[in-house]
Amino acid sequence: MVSAVLLAAGRGRRAGVRKQFVRIGGRRLYEYPLSVLREAGIEDVILVLPEGEMEDVEGVRTVEGGAERMDSVFNGVRAARGEYVLVHDSARANLSVGLVRRLIEAEGDVVVPAVRPPDSVFYAGRYINRDEVLLVQTPQRVRRTLLMEAYERAKAGGRLYTDEGSLILGEMGVAPKFVEGERWNFKITYPSDMEVFRRLKMSVHTLFGYDVHRLVPGRPLYLAGVKVADDFGALGHSDGDAVLHAVVDALLSFMGFGDIGTVFSDTDARWEGVRSEVFAAETARLAEERGIEVLRLDLTVVLERPKLRGFKGAMIENLSRLFNLPSERISLKAKSGNGLHPNSIQVFAIVEVGVAASG
Ligand code: MG
Repeated sequence: MVSAVLLAAGRGRRAGVRKQFVRIGGRRLYEYPLSVLREAGIEDVILVLPEGEMEDVEGVRTVEGGAERMDSVFNGVRAARGEYVLVHDSARANLSVGLVRRLIEAEGDVVVPAVRPPDSVFYAGRYINRDEVLLVQTPQRVRRTLLMEAYERAKAGGRLYTDEGSLILGEMGVAPKFVEGERWNFKITYPSDMEVFRRLKMSVHTLFGYDVHRLVPGRPLYLAGVKVADDFGALGHSDGDAVLHAVVDALLSFMGFGDIGTVFSDTDARWEGVRSEVFAAETARLAEERGIEVLRLDLTVVLERPKLRGFKGAMIENLSRLFNLPSERISLKAKSGNGLHPNSIQVFAIVEVGVAASG
């Protein structure tokens, strides 16, 4: 029997965040390789979490990590039941079922996946033959007892190793058997790696939303939750915030709810006089529940007066907070309408969303 130890105990010293807990498409990073290990048929999975951050995760046993990666591996391997253990870093989140199966089927006490570098390699003052270079990945499949003994010896001698293959070679003299790894089984180390993984796991859709309201005296005008005029405003059931309505409409329609009038009906007393930020927050919640992320907002407002220049910053800040995206991914353009639309406000919204790929 083969067990798996999934390492999610990192402290984020290099990336600056605990990347194993970053949410992508509604799932935490470590959940991606976890589901692949299960799909490959491994029933005994031990998840190693950071010290002092233990929590229950459905279907796996959890153990606490140690001071170094090597200590975390040991804690996991000690808890494993299988004769062999696959040790995997959760930062290699793009693990494939095929690679796991190849490792399970290969023979040997220490089986390690590796790829050759596609780039030229310059080392210690000279170019070396890259065909003799291997870049070593995880999961590494080791005989459980062999790893435990190697660990005890390394610990006694105060020696540190970065992976199972080097530990067992260094302490027990047993060379790893290398099998073909996968280039896409890359390790998420820097923010740009996370961005690549995000794109791999999401499909991107471009949505369109539109809203128009008549402007009347005697009520305030709200746009993106910001009051931009006091003496005239949009006629409507709620506060008539056409910016929020256009974005909400695009999202609701994409999620299969019809449109804003269907979900927040103007015959429903609950929404009478309600600020549109309530609609926006509810829509954002529905999207998050479905693993939908707003990636970009491109808005065009057609409005004769007032000039929006002074309100743009606050409007973008509100949109950023309501739809949970960085403000630099929001563009807001104001058009006067050249006198053609003196008594109305119109908003055109292009909304880019990412949806978690299934599996
Ligand atoms: Mg409206």
